[in-house]
Amino acid sequence: MKVATGPGNVKVREIAEPSPGPGEALIEVGAAGICGTDLHIFHDEFKTAPPVVLGHEVAGTVVAVGEGVDDAVVGSKVTTETYYSTCGVCRYCRSGHINLCHARRSIGSAVNGGFTRYLKVPAKNLHVLPATVGVRAGALTEPLACVAHALLDRPVIRPGDVVAVAGPGAIGLLATQVARAAGATVVVLGTAVDAPRLELARQLGASHTVVVGEEDPGALLRDITPEGLGADVVIECSGAGPAAAQLLTLARRRGHYLQVGLFGKPVSWDLDQVCYRELLVSGSNASTPESWLRALELLASGEVDTEAIISGTYPLAGWRDAFADFEAKRGVKLLLVPGGN
Ligand SMILES: [Zn+2]
Ligand SMILES: [Zn+2]
Repeated sequence: MKVATGPGNVKVREIAEPSPGPGEALIEVGAAGICGTDLHIFHDEFKTAPPVVLGHEVAGTVVAVGEGVDDAVVGSKVTTETYYSTCGVCRYCRSGHINLCHARRSIGSAVNGGFTRYLKVPAKNLHVLPATVGVRAGALTEPLACVAHALLDRPVIRPGDVVAVAGPGAIGLLATQVARAAGATVVVLGTAVDAPRLELARQLGASHTVVVGEEDPGALLRDITPEGLGADVVIECSGAGPAAAQLLTLARRRGHYLQVGLFGKPVSWDLDQVCYRELLVSGSNASTPESWLRALELLASGEVDTEAIISGTYPLAGWRDAFADFEAKRGVKLLLVPGGN
């Protein structure tokens, strides 16, 4: 848990087992994904309300429910949406865009999250996992919902599009699969250190991959797009300034630039290109209830495989190794398994 603000200040601590209040459910956590946000919290680059247990990508088994909750859900394998509370009355809450509510409090930053044995959440946030989806894969419903929000809530991709994805991390590999499922041909861009991730991108449906610095993504995109115009849609998932600047040049005139990765600082871009080439530029922030439903459908149908991007599991006590491996980009997605493997 984050025990105080400031860099580091993450420790393993004993906490009382939470008991579910009215409308709440208690999950015995089976697996919880480590996300870039958790690293940002470790480095104190993301706002938290300590002391607070980290972790917002969670799946497990419901072991108890509070007053007013149907106990039929006890024993079910579930995942949970991440908003512990929102105001419920603002323009965004009323229109289903609860990710943008100014009063939103999320698990893993404002209230206790999933890097623990037992997690208490509002029962309305639960989703029973599809029968074919295990707890490990199910823990990654959250990042998939974020990608589904970015690509599908506001339709970005049309069948037949050529899409370039920069950054073959977990989000980029999920975006590759969702773009494929939406009918696109997908080109994934990475750097030389990303070689194993680019191989995985090809296994997960990318038609081409490009090692930036060694190969020219512009030439490839001219080869595979009608009239050599370039990508219909470019999706920035790396959060690296140079990747963003390059991606802007790869979108065709009247193409779409979508920002999904976070840079953590201002980056520079040639925004004149947005005018000259009439680009549409958009961004996305976290997930919506609608995108969770879409994510679960993509998992149930098998069109997206989240298990494939899991490269390691660690016990809670091994969190330091897990964070260090994640920070060093060893593997793609790492999970903490509080009950042991
Ligand atoms: Zn996350
Ligand atoms: Zn609100």
